[in-house]
Amino acid sequence: MLQGSSQSACRQCGTCCRNGGAALHQCDISLLQQELIPRSDLITIRKGEFAHNPLSGNVQATANEIVKLRGSGKEWVCCYYDTLSKGCKIYGNRPVACSTLKCWEPEESLKLVETDLLSRVEILGNDSATILLIAEYEGNCPLPDFKNLGFDLDLSAGETLERLEKSVNSDLAFRNHAVALSAMILKDEMFLFGRPLFQMLSPFGLDIIQAGTQLSVQINRNRGVRVQG
Ligand code: SF4
Ligand code: SF4
Repeated sequence: MLQGSSQSACRQCGTCCRNGGAALHQCDISLLQQELIPRSDLITIRKGEFAHNPLSGNVQATANEIVKLRGSGKEWVCCYYDTLSKGCKIYGNRPVACSTLKCWEPEESLKLVETDLLSRVEILGNDSATILLIAEYEGNCPLPDFKNLGFDLDLSAGETLERLEKSVNSDLAFRNHAVALSAMILKDEMFLFGRPLFQMLSPFGLDIIQAGTQLSVQINRNRGVRVQG
């Protein structure tokens, strides 16, 4: 129990659900196989992407990919959180990270962090065509080295921006091509490929500007260390 806290049960305040959807673990696989949670409600945080780590309390590069419940609209609030009733729309079928979470006694749920995570490949099972597509995406559109991005920008801004711009545009081109081929890919894009690279750059003090059909990456005037969860 948290020191000084008198809490001994969930107060259904919804704070944990508003902080973002749960990560999925091996024991959640049946929820996906039975389509109790469809792939279109998932988002992948790719290995190396910056995300909040509940163990360290910091925003840092992820050591492994994390497949989690997506947010609602542009927010990270879990897509299954009902703001009116302040309840969970899939309570009986919620992932293990939700059913073990006791904010007043976080030890059990903290043990789950980065443990037995479900990967995209495991979720896709024997769908080898889609697994190949993901491998092609990872090969063609690797993430930049976010850990050293600030340093690289300080050292050689021009070269780093040029490299990022190339990556942002190839990332978008790959997705546009893939979603044009299949309605399934369009529906499951966030699960299959995670967020587009251009959406990950603003916490690093970078702005994305549309320049015709291309995106341009520029340094924000207020650039500093402002990576947030
Ligand atoms: S576990 Fe804690 S944060 Fe989550 S709804 Fe219950 S009281 Fe709120
Ligand atoms: S699945 Fe339900 S309990 Fe879990 S984060 Fe979403 S709304 Fe909250």
